[in-house]
Amino acid sequence: MNEYSVLISGAGIAGPALAHWLHRQGIRPTIVEQAPDVRLGGQAVDLRGLGEVVAERMGIMPRVRERIVHEKGLRYIDSAGRELATMPADLFVGDGSPVTEIEIMKGDLTEILLDLIDDHTEVIYGDRIESMVEGPDGVEVTFRSGLVRTFDVVVGADGIHSGVRALAFGPEADYVVHLGAYLGYCTVPDAGPLDDWFDMYSEPGRMLALRPERGGSAKAMLAFAATGADVDRRDVASQKRLLREVFDGMGWRAGELLAAADADADFHLDTVSQVHMDSWTRGRVALLGDAGYCGSPLTGMGTSLALVGAYVLAGELGRAAGDHAAAFARYEEIMRPYVATAHTLAPGGVDGFLPRSRFMLRMRVLSARLMHHWPMRQIVARMLDKSEAIELPDYASTSVAAMP
Ligand SMILES: Cc1cc2nc3c(=O)[nH]c(=O)nc-3n(C[C@H](O)[C@H](O)[C@H](O)COP(=O)(O)OP(=O)(O)OC[C@H]3O[C@@H](n4cnc5c(N)ncnc54)[C@H](O)[C@@H]3O)c2cc1C
Repeated sequence: MNEYSVLISGAGIAGPALAHWLHRQGIRPTIVEQAPDVRLGGQAVDLRGLGEVVAERMGIMPRVRERIVHEKGLRYIDSAGRELATMPADLFVGDGSPVTEIEIMKGDLTEILLDLIDDHTEVIYGDRIESMVEGPDGVEVTFRSGLVRTFDVVVGADGIHSGVRALAFGPEADYVVHLGAYLGYCTVPDAGPLDDWFDMYSEPGRMLALRPERGGSAKAMLAFAATGADVDRRDVASQKRLLREVFDGMGWRAGELLAAADADADFHLDTVSQVHMDSWTRGRVALLGDAGYCGSPLTGMGTSLALVGAYVLAGELGRAAGDHAAAFARYEEIMRPYVATAHTLAPGGVDGFLPRSRFMLRMRVLSARLMHHWPMRQIVARMLDKSEAIELPDYASTSVAAMP
């Protein structure tokens, strides 16, 4: 194997997927992950359309199917837990469906991807890139641990709060667009029978949901419209206090879910945001997945974007035989239309997710009921479908023979 080398920051979804495809192209990947070990937590994520195609090409679908979270779909409920309307997973087919048939826990998918690269990729845990100096022959990287190494290319696959993006492109505020809502999530070890539905209870401007997980636990989601409060991403204690204020007096299982949030060491709260950038590449540095083009959890497209982006970036680096500038230009060209489509929110956007009035809540239930009927189903399916956005290149036979 030649020595063309790529450093990937982040061992979430995009990072290990990129390492797999780089190796297939004869390029040596190294991953640095700031967490001290594999991050197995996280929520259920969807594999859709082209994301599923890439997963098939990686050969991981049998393992994914073994770990599928069985979810019938989304069910709107009232404060007593009675069904108001449902959106079954098989109602729509395609990239933009609000619920899909392939749901997997993010940690399970990460584990499957890491297993895939185990025998050829060095993964450095508990470290991160501190600085990068680009020269004509590569990027000299200094890690927080003091380690210094040089790579041909560096890829930031380190999520919405990307450290590589901050170093190479500038402050987060220039690229991360807050959509006006906050979303917290935590594990509920024993949520009782959910009958395999993703249950959602809403009041104006706030929402509680419970989603089944593999193994009998459930993930609670607590979402609210922006209050103007300045939420510190790292101050979990103040986030939990804020949740108690925001969800005070809320119906359904609010007390129980707030208690679960308090008890969960992995409780996580963040803004609902998208990343918008005119370019995802600069010099020898590229951004991938949420770091470059997070569409927000509202699109349900993050995992597919990460997998497709990894496939295209590695494929183009292989095809360009070491000419990173040419590869990056093609990566941008191919991915732009897909990202633009994936960023499009479902009708109503954040207000559809968190309706601000009782009238709008009733309208949402009504439209969910109407979606069961033709022609409404066809119309909405066409609006939501994102699977035709790009044609996926076939890189299978283009592996690099030699790098300069
Ligand atoms: C509540 C919620 C629900 C979601 N639901 C869905 C869904 O239904 N469907 C879907 O497709 N997507 C969903 N997503 C989005 C999905 O999880 C992400 O889009 C996807 O994980 C992106 O993968 P990634 O590899 O780009 O980033 P991540 O998975 O975030 O991985 C980034 C990795 O980089 C590491 N890291 C961060 N900073 C550094 C650093 N400075 N140095 C080194 N390592 C670093 C992190 O520890 C992490 O391991 C949801 C997200 C959330 C928050």
